Amino acid sequence: MSNTDRVPTPNQWKEHIKRLTAGGASYADVRYYSEDLSGNISLHNGNLVNPYSGGSGIAQQSESGYGVRCLYGGAWGFAASSDPAQITATFDRALDNAKTAAGRVSFPIRLADKEVLSGEFVSPCARDPFDVPIEEQIAFLNGLDAVLNQTGVAQRAINLSATRTKIEYYDSEGAEIRKQIINFFPSMTVMGRGTSGDMQRRTYKPPRLGESRGWEIMDPEHWHTEGERLVRELNELLVAPACPVDTRSVIILPDMMFLQVHETIGHALELDRILGYELSFAGGSFVRLEDFGNLQYGSTRLTARADATVPNSPGSFGYDDDGVAAQNRLLIDRGTLVGAISSRQTVTEANAKAGRDIFAGSGGANRACAFNRTPIERMTNINIDPGNDGNLDDIIADTERGIIVSGDRSWSIGSNREQFHFATEIAWLVEDGKRCGVVRNPSYQGMTLDFYRSLTAVGDASTWEVHYVPNCGKGAPGQIMQLGHGIPVCRFDNVKVGE
Ligand SMILES: [Zn+2]
Repeated sequence: MSNTDRVPTPNQWKEHIKRLTAGGASYADVRYYSEDLSGNISLHNGNLVNPYSGGSGIAQQSESGYGVRCLYGGAWGFAASSDPAQITATFDRALDNAKTAAGRVSFPIRLADKEVLSGEFVSPCARDPFDVPIEEQIAFLNGLDAVLNQTGVAQRAINLSATRTKIEYYDSEGAEIRKQIINFFPSMTVMGRGTSGDMQRRTYKPPRLGESRGWEIMDPEHWHTEGERLVRELNELLVAPACPVDTRSVIILPDMMFLQVHETIGHALELDRILGYELSFAGGSFVRLEDFGNLQYGSTRLTARADATVPNSPGSFGYDDDGVAAQNRLLIDRGTLVGAISSRQTVTEANAKAGRDIFAGSGGANRACAFNRTPIERMTNINIDPGNDGNLDDIIADTERGIIVSGDRSWSIGSNREQFHFATEIAWLVEDGKRCGVVRNPSYQGMTLDFYRSLTAVGDASTWEVHYVPNCGKGAPGQIMQLGHGIPVCRFDNVKVGE
């Protein structure tokens, strides 16, 4: 939509919505993306690499458009376009699609009540990454690359990716919302071949570093210090013995625990999965509707929540694509399953199918990744509350035989999230309350419920970090979403490691 003078005013969007409700729609909304910009710059072994084309340079793409959703006869209709000349036709097509679908609907859709809001959300960013001159970005990359280019490092990669999205939202209930969201995901990796012949690697993807998340987090001193640490740890890995095959305590640092939570709490508690809507796409869930309020998901140390109010995280977006304001909802309360990641549609369906009111209103987690996709349940910030077991040193001192694991390397998860196997980049053995040497190729595995029930230590607030996920995939057609996890250090007992 390049011809900006043809873009409708708010009143014109509302008139189109009124036309649909006059035509029989019980509900309608529109999301207009005036901008959806993404950019990526990568340096591999000192060379600029365009990850989209395989050529050299910097990749950037931009699009704009609008998506219209409406309900008719208990069925959704959706249509989208990037052509401002097609607005009337696109609204009409959404209603036509809903009318066609209404003849085939097996469970008529009802939307849970919501508070009708008008508002604005702007994600915190001191320096827009898209405003940073390319020469400055390349100078940063070259400076950091020189730090990584050391003995033992066979391959080194630095990647900066950013998105900027501007969205207007209107619905037939009267909501009017504006959002501007900048996401920025820098990372660096070093790899080398060890004395045993296998490849080892260390990666740094920064957790939340402050109040905002633009180019200001690219403080060279911080990145050079972290780069030196990666090189040092890689060189330790290159000569380290293999992780023992054993049953031990596993102390999981937040830069790994976020993925554990993502895969075995977050995805397992998406209500559309629980209702079976993702079975042939991303998978299902072992959780059943009768489990809410009853299932002992973990030990009493485990309290998990979906908190879209966390400052400065991609899982915080002000309002979801149902126009529901950011929620902070308990998922697991001192071990007991109490909540899910939900939307206006799924909470009414789940309550009706369960024959009881499990959910009080939408959890505000319905999000689309682009103007031409319909919103589905997505994680917000799926967090573990800090505990009372001290800091990392306290937890190590309290551990007889264990390993400390850090950095996700590979994962394998049951499609219903009932079991898992994770390999991590690095681990340190713990013997008699002391941190010992590094071991290579660490891994651990378990059954989800048994594992969380063996949670025996949760670090205090000093160990709590917000880690970001830039690429959570779900839905058909596929949607890639950004979110966060606020996570303390956690220890689990009697875990199979090293195989
Ligand atoms: Zn995911």
